[in-house]
Amino acid sequence: MTNPRILKVAVSVPLSREFDYLPASEAPAAQSGSRVLVPFGHRQQVGVVVAEATASDIPVAKIRRSVATLDDEPLLSADDLWLIRFTSNYYHHPIGEVVATALPALLRQGKALHPTRTFVAISDAGACADIETLARRAPKQAELLETLIDAGGNGIDTDTLREHLPTWRRAVKGLFEKGYALSFDATGEDPEFATLAEAEPGPDLNPDQQRALETMRAGSGFAAYLLDGVTGSGKTEVYLQLMRNVLDAGRQVLILVPEIGLTPQLVKRLSKRLGVEPVVLHSGLTDLARLHAWRSARTGAAKLVVGTRSAVFTPMPDVGLIVIDEEHDHSFKQQEGLRYSARDLAIARAKRHDIPIVLGSATPSLEVLQHCRTGNFTRLELPQRAGGANPPNFRLVDLTRAPANDGLSEPLIKAIRSHLGNDGQALIFLNRRGFAPTLICASCGHIAECDRCDSRMTVHARDRILKCHHCGASRPLDESCSECAATVRPLGEGTERLEDALREHFPDHRIDRIDSDSMQRRGAIGEALEKAAQGDADILVGTQMLSKGHHFPKLTLVGVVNADQGLFGTDFRSAERMAQSIIQVAGRAGRESRQGEVIIQTAFPDNPFWPCLVEGGYTQIAEDALSEREETRWPPFTWLALIRSAAHSKNDAHAFLDVAKKRIEARQQDYLRVLGPVDAPMARRAGRYRAQLLLQSSDRKSLHAVLTDLRPALEAEPTARKVRWSIDVDPIELF
Ligand code: ADP
Ligand code: ZN
Repeated sequence: MTNPRILKVAVSVPLSREFDYLPASEAPAAQSGSRVLVPFGHRQQVGVVVAEATASDIPVAKIRRSVATLDDEPLLSADDLWLIRFTSNYYHHPIGEVVATALPALLRQGKALHPTRTFVAISDAGACADIETLARRAPKQAELLETLIDAGGNGIDTDTLREHLPTWRRAVKGLFEKGYALSFDATGEDPEFATLAEAEPGPDLNPDQQRALETMRAGSGFAAYLLDGVTGSGKTEVYLQLMRNVLDAGRQVLILVPEIGLTPQLVKRLSKRLGVEPVVLHSGLTDLARLHAWRSARTGAAKLVVGTRSAVFTPMPDVGLIVIDEEHDHSFKQQEGLRYSARDLAIARAKRHDIPIVLGSATPSLEVLQHCRTGNFTRLELPQRAGGANPPNFRLVDLTRAPANDGLSEPLIKAIRSHLGNDGQALIFLNRRGFAPTLICASCGHIAECDRCDSRMTVHARDRILKCHHCGASRPLDESCSECAATVRPLGEGTERLEDALREHFPDHRIDRIDSDSMQRRGAIGEALEKAAQGDADILVGTQMLSKGHHFPKLTLVGVVNADQGLFGTDFRSAERMAQSIIQVAGRAGRESRQGEVIIQTAFPDNPFWPCLVEGGYTQIAEDALSEREETRWPPFTWLALIRSAAHSKNDAHAFLDVAKKRIEARQQDYLRVLGPVDAPMARRAGRYRAQLLLQSSDRKSLHAVLTDLRPALEAEPTARKVRWSIDVDPIELF
């Protein structure tokens, strides 16, 4: 008897294993990378064949047969499967769930790669219709008719119609009745990615940019470059030129950007300068649009793919370059479910494809800086702003001498007035949304807290609610103290309060608040940034959203309202993080001909952090932090994994981690330290108690060996049933 063909199938369940199936009896035959429909328990599930075998631990007679093969040819290539397996192994996460993260939703659900769509096309009668007469009686119908005439015989699919003419449904009914249009179902072609007529030339590179570009051009095969350039130093110009080379060679380019870095301006700049329409992948896409984008990258039709975190999984058969803009940004690390770092996976992917990867930042992560020190990565510096702009001047305002009212000190108000007077623009940065972070009773001191978290409720004055920023719970704003009925008072300030204060001081100026509350409408952020860039706003007030990458030509003043948040943070990354956010927001000031100024309000002007930052810049902060990490044996000098657990009872959360700890210690590793279990810094969140166990090792391999054994053991552990748990490899937040 010949050996049976057995399919190793990844199914989206939280178990660290593959499942064995026999191939479906009907064609097409499943191969590695194909999706299959398989019986799973009492249901059917969509899975992906990740390998084939001729033997199984299960007797062949007991192996179930897959119901159907969903793809005529493998959906995922060997390279795609490699990345999925690498991710599963490195993050100790079930492979079926990795597949689910990597695939667009429609494919995950088992829909066809080329789903059938309904098309509307012009009929012969429609082609001869008198449009002008129609336009007088039914202008919408006439508009649609013209669109259909332009589209020609292939017609337009209804999704595209919906996008362009929201009222298409009524109009098309009219055309059907007149016999001017007809409809049919078809799979449709992928959009063409036309090479635009002419790519616009950029500025001549300055010597630093030129040197960086030459170094990267001279490389071959895998190489990781840190493009370490101060804000406005022209990093993007360097990427653009390098991308041009790769595109000219006919290869694909993948660009990963932070969540809030993916703006219409960036997309416009890319297409204008490269002469290629980029495919854009982000979380706001409809399922169908995402499928299109994914598909055209997979066939190689899309040459330029730009996206946020999850775009790192996009299949690209001929990728020749990966660029990660703002590599230090924390949005590259997923903080739930599969806790992957898109940056680190992109580096692994570049190695696998033997291609260069460029990591750009004005505030590089300590991990990447350390790779440069050891020679794994090449550091290319752009120490000066391009086009002759000067770096901004920094000034500290001592809040103990010049107290702030509603967040604004007198010196800051004066500075705003003077910059506005000189036709400049001001950006006031506060990384806290809402009106005030605390609602306190003026009489008994009671503070409004969340019922489900160990946290305070934030006052949102516009919506007249109290909102928990940790679990999202909200309730109407208390009119009086819930304990003693006395008057309540909002304490501290958020962006809403700051906006109000600015309006009082500057009633005749245009003020725009930009944070996730004010920018909820789709497209709102793009419009607001465009408006700011055009100089149609005088004062911008907002959070992190405003700080990254944007170029506002008129902006000359940046005010940092509460700079002390990170000085005494509990996390070992607090200082580095604060330095990054201050440098990034400061980088918005004075990017063109006029001198920029940055005012930092602090109640601790004597803290050594400030002279270090103001005189040495980020480089100094990073150097100091690296030395300190080396002494104290924190990353990037050691490796971390955090096991988290959350349960309705505190005991359950801890009991599970106690078991995990025992298991780890049973196979004592020389290089491993186990810290905890301890309560998470916010012990109760969304009604669950949270605890954590930290593993620290000076040897990455032995840490991973422990986790490889631990994961399946914990899955089988009875105490696991009462908790939600996860393994976070290379955690960036220790809570
Ligand atoms: P970064 O990505 O480092 O923030 P950009 O590439 O966006 O910097 O450049 C900042 C500004 O400087 C942009 O307006 C850009 O057009 C301009 N610029 C970049 N390189 C040059 C150059 N070599 N000569 C003149 N202007 C330049
Ligand atoms: Zn809460």
